[in-house]
Amino acid sequence: MTGQVQPDQQEFFDPGTLVGVLTTQPLDRILDYKAPEGGCWRGAFVEVPLGPRKVLGVVWGAGQGGYDASKIRSILRVLDVAPMRDELKQFLQRSADYTLTPLTAMLRLATRAPGLSDPPSMQKIYRLGQGEPDRSTAARTRVLDTLRDYGGLAFTLKELAEMAGVSSSVVKGLVKQNVVLEEDRPRDLPFARLDPDHAGKTLTEAQGEAAAKLRAGVAAQTYGTTLLRGVTGSGKTEVYLEAVAECLAQGRQALVLLPEIALTAEFLTRVEERFGAKPAEWHSGVTMTERRRIWKMVGQGGAQMVIGARSALFLPYQNLGLIVVDEEHDTSYKQEEGVLYNARDMAVLRAHLCGAQVVLASATPSLETWVNAEAGKYEKIDLVSRYGPSVMPDMRAIDMRQEKLPSNRWISDKLKHEVLARVEKGEQSLLFINRRGYAPVTICRACGHQIACDVCDARMVEHRFLKRLMCHQCGETKPVPTECPNCAAEDRLAPVGPGVERLAEEATALFPDARVVTLSSDMFGSARALKAQIAEIAEGGADIIIGTQLVAKGHNFPLLTLVGVIDADLGLQGSDLRAAERTFQLMRQVAGRAGRSERKGVAFMQSYQPEHPVIRAILAGDEEGFWRAEADARRLAGVPPYGRMAGIVISAPDPQQPFDMGSEMARRNAPLRQIGAQVFGPAPAPIARIRGRHRVRLLVKAEKGAPLQNALAKWLQQFRPGNQLRISVDIDPQSF
Ligand code: ADP
Ligand code: ZN
Repeated sequence: MTGQVQPDQQEFFDPGTLVGVLTTQPLDRILDYKAPEGGCWRGAFVEVPLGPRKVLGVVWGAGQGGYDASKIRSILRVLDVAPMRDELKQFLQRSADYTLTPLTAMLRLATRAPGLSDPPSMQKIYRLGQGEPDRSTAARTRVLDTLRDYGGLAFTLKELAEMAGVSSSVVKGLVKQNVVLEEDRPRDLPFARLDPDHAGKTLTEAQGEAAAKLRAGVAAQTYGTTLLRGVTGSGKTEVYLEAVAECLAQGRQALVLLPEIALTAEFLTRVEERFGAKPAEWHSGVTMTERRRIWKMVGQGGAQMVIGARSALFLPYQNLGLIVVDEEHDTSYKQEEGVLYNARDMAVLRAHLCGAQVVLASATPSLETWVNAEAGKYEKIDLVSRYGPSVMPDMRAIDMRQEKLPSNRWISDKLKHEVLARVEKGEQSLLFINRRGYAPVTICRACGHQIACDVCDARMVEHRFLKRLMCHQCGETKPVPTECPNCAAEDRLAPVGPGVERLAEEATALFPDARVVTLSSDMFGSARALKAQIAEIAEGGADIIIGTQLVAKGHNFPLLTLVGVIDADLGLQGSDLRAAERTFQLMRQVAGRAGRSERKGVAFMQSYQPEHPVIRAILAGDEEGFWRAEADARRLAGVPPYGRMAGIVISAPDPQQPFDMGSEMARRNAPLRQIGAQVFGPAPAPIARIRGRHRVRLLVKAEKGAPLQNALAKWLQQFRPGNQLRISVDIDPQSF
């Protein structure tokens, strides 16, 4: 068994022994193979023949046997990576059971590292050198921009050329001038060592106490979950970095999950300052070469810390001691396509299985987490005040019923005066609207027709910046027509309602002497451009910031003292039971942007219903009261976290088929009745058509302790969706 990494306490299979291999192919079965020459460990990553192909798999355990032994094929090759630990196997199995997904689909999540099976070798890599090219061309600029966008990362020639959209000769040309450096490097280098004692900050007393508690948890090397709650700017990040320090000092690996790629750059810098080196970074923007390296290094202990998106949970850690879920309430932790899982919940499960600590950090925790903390299932640490002189802003409402604004105006006179006063004092204002694009609706003034997506149940949103209409469901775009697609009237199409771009237009007209900057995800071609803009704002390069949800998170603008929420009622419409929670969280996050330095901030919320209980709770800053009321409402309704729920979405190109299937499923519900669960629907799904598929939804509701997954599995077995029909199960759906 030359060169195979030896795991601790895992079984070894001698050559020729029958082993069961789970492959990444969608066959929901473990297949028998013979252990290869040299044998293999349980958990080994292997290449096996499947029909005419070679596929990736994991040695799951002993074989089943019972076949003609001469027909059983041999494992072709054991890959040069650490075998999967039993604990990750259990994690995959448990998450497959929980989400009702095939185990093979979970394994695919855990093996998303292309090139994994390539043998290690030297390779040429390319990275940024010094200086400027003798002659600058568009293609050359793209190469350099790509390298700068990814900081210190190195690329293979093919990757770099593809990402920059140039031919490889452009890169080679830059190499000749030393503007790009070409180096020989073994694939898969370990990461630089992080030093837990590199540069610790002096913590305040409250921070110090919080850090000590977290450190003690990590030092105990057992499972435990802590909610770390504190307003934005209270130093949660500083505090949980101390838990990371403890984890590194223990020689265990740490994982920090962040909800947005846009936040990683700032965070990487902070980690580097604290520990003297950069951690591994894992998300969709990371290159293929780098992914493969991370995957291997995490498996061999050559990466002490990973920061990343939710899929980083599935990396093959050898010795995971801590998982931090930052902004734990963020809805992007729920994966909404493919395997539907919530990374926050899966983090807790993973930590359970490997005896690690979890820190859930948030200024506005999810109701689920708040309830778990109240019930004593999680520890709770509160950081009540902001670090330094800054305090939470005053919250005030502007009653829009009194303002009598003309149509096509969204900034009230009251807010206008407040902004002007700030501009005069050299302070910044943020005007927030949670809507991308120019206008949410485009309507024909002649016939009343509203332009909709061809394949979704959604209106097209005009984006002036992109000069196109866009469907926010499927991303499809089309040019803005000059005539109505319905009645052919010319030049009668008009935008209705505000989006962030339109708000910027209004602000520019209203404040001609101010510097107005818009921050919306559509407007930046690259992460670097966005980062540059944010840095410029932080240094005072703008008077008024017009922003979407993008600005609600993380960024620090010291000169910002005023926040104006243009449409505070926006999230409160509709029947979604989580709407109140979301609005409450979002408003507090946005308001938290104001007054992060010495100057006190104020946040104004424009509302047509300032007496709404949610708006009132936000104004009063009465968090406990709000959560208690929310929790009571959910308890009464018997919905999560007080009851269990699953959403079953049935979709097909045909509008009738899903409905018929849904009705049949609702009728034949014996397995669900047996556990006392109820079925509601079929009803049109929250989005009734996406990409040409009609969707209906059934909701299944059960009591908290009921064996819901078991019953669902039995129930679903009865139905064989036809070729065009798809049934997907969403445990703990986001909207209900
Ligand atoms: P949160 O994660 O709660 O939003 P941060 O950890 O980002 O808070 O802290 C907010 C700001 O205050 C950051 O710029 C951080 O560096 C600074 N800060 C917090 N605590 C300290 C401290 N003890 N010493 C120095 N700077 C601190
Ligand atoms: Zn669409």
